[in-house]
Amino acid sequence: MNYFSTRDSQRKTPVSAAQAIKQGIAEDGGLFMPESFPAVNADEISGLCALSYNERAAKILSMFLDDYSKEELLEFANAAYSPEKFPGGAAPVSFLGDTHRVLELWHGPTCAFKDMALQIMPRLLSAALKKTGEKRTAYILVATSGDTGKAALEGYKNVDGIKITVFYPEDGVSAMQKLQMTSQDGENVNVCAIRGNFDDAQTGVKMIFSDKDFAQKLDSQGVFLSSANSINWGRLAPQIVYYFSAYCDLVNSGDIKLGEKIDIVVPTGNFGNIFAAYIAKRMGLFVGKLVCASNSNNILTDFLGTGVYDRNRNFYTTMSPSMDILISSNLERLLYVIAGPERCTKYMKELSQNGKYTVEDDVLAEIKKNFSAYYCSEENTACTIKGIFDGYNYLIDPHTACAVYAAQLAEKENAEQGRNVKIVTASTASPYKFAADVLRSLGKTPENAGFEVIYELSELTNTDIPAPLAALRDAKVRFTGAVGRSKDELLGAAESFVSAK
Ligand SMILES: *Cc1c(COP(=O)(O)O)cnc(C)c1O
Repeated sequence: MNYFSTRDSQRKTPVSAAQAIKQGIAEDGGLFMPESFPAVNADEISGLCALSYNERAAKILSMFLDDYSKEELLEFANAAYSPEKFPGGAAPVSFLGDTHRVLELWHGPTCAFKDMALQIMPRLLSAALKKTGEKRTAYILVATSGDTGKAALEGYKNVDGIKITVFYPEDGVSAMQKLQMTSQDGENVNVCAIRGNFDDAQTGVKMIFSDKDFAQKLDSQGVFLSSANSINWGRLAPQIVYYFSAYCDLVNSGDIKLGEKIDIVVPTGNFGNIFAAYIAKRMGLFVGKLVCASNSNNILTDFLGTGVYDRNRNFYTTMSPSMDILISSNLERLLYVIAGPERCTKYMKELSQNGKYTVEDDVLAEIKKNFSAYYCSEENTACTIKGIFDGYNYLIDPHTACAVYAAQLAEKENAEQGRNVKIVTASTASPYKFAADVLRSLGKTPENAGFEVIYELSELTNTDIPAPLAALRDAKVRFTGAVGRSKDELLGAAESFVSAK
């Protein structure tokens, strides 16, 4: 299967899946997209139901990554989603009442859903280097709003032929997220705080990626840049799998009949996770509505409702930092699919020049056919954490709470319209990654600062601390550096690490 840039309107430059994964972002600044969406019919979904998670993953991935063998993909899935790495299962589904289901995506080594992609992606990249005859070292630059950074570090640590630097906003991540990153082990890893927000980090990293001089300089040292952010197709493809898998699990448990539609609710930041659900729907998975949940940074709620994307607005730091985003990169992929490459390119140009664009009526109509959107204030996030714990004895993190809140609103609307569908909400992080905010939401003021709060949360809720987070108790901080938010400062930090012997 060929991949094209979202800005390649003539489809002039096809690349293979391996090449797309290796490169991360297209040379014209666009994102790679498969030339078509493989179709999956009801019989094939029924076939998937009989398989394990890893086998489902190999099947779905092989439809997109046809330059990888099925055996290879199954081997990668087996290694990535092993019981040692995912002791709670890869992507189990929990029940909240009659119609609401929760797809738990945070049972991996860093306790956030990013592990679902970043445990398998280093294997896809290593194989891609071989498949494309690449001899140079891949240097991965990551901008993180908290969870990607740790998941990428954990996935890429000590992988041969790869180095990685992670930039995170100094005051934009939780104490636990910071400790997870700054204590990272591995010879090939580097972590750097920036004095700015996530958009600053992401913009800086994007600018480094398009800096031709820097690319040349690296090339002369036998290094090239690659990306582990969700703009990389190798991040998105593994995320399609768990929507199929959740559907199959619900069929297997008798909760739904094969062919019955489900609605999917996703707490959204960079629009990667929900776009994977959209792809699953386009492939033929029986999905009704896709519900986009945001926090107070509700730019997507506005856009999906009105067709106007306007980033000229306040930026809020919330208790769901992975959704504190004003430029959702993967939205470009949806625009490409719905509006076509010319209009998509035009929107992106307007966004970079004026921070704003408006889509045409036909585009908005198509968006509304597939998506609805809600946002959740800080107050409602806290109420939802408490309400779900009191009502179901089920503990959720602030990101998931935004989605559960949106799911409740969607449920109400469904009832009003007489739509009788099961709702599956993606749960994206362990509550222990955000223990202080979760504790406060439950009405208790933390007595400790920082790491120790997890013990208070465990005691109050009588729930277990995930082992990888408990282990941080004895972790030593390795990375203490911080730089300003300008591109040059990021570039300096990136360069000094890769050039060091
Ligand atoms: C990354 C992340 C999100 C947002 O996912 P996108 O794919 O960027 O939309 C939501 N919740 C958590 C916990 C995350 O780590």
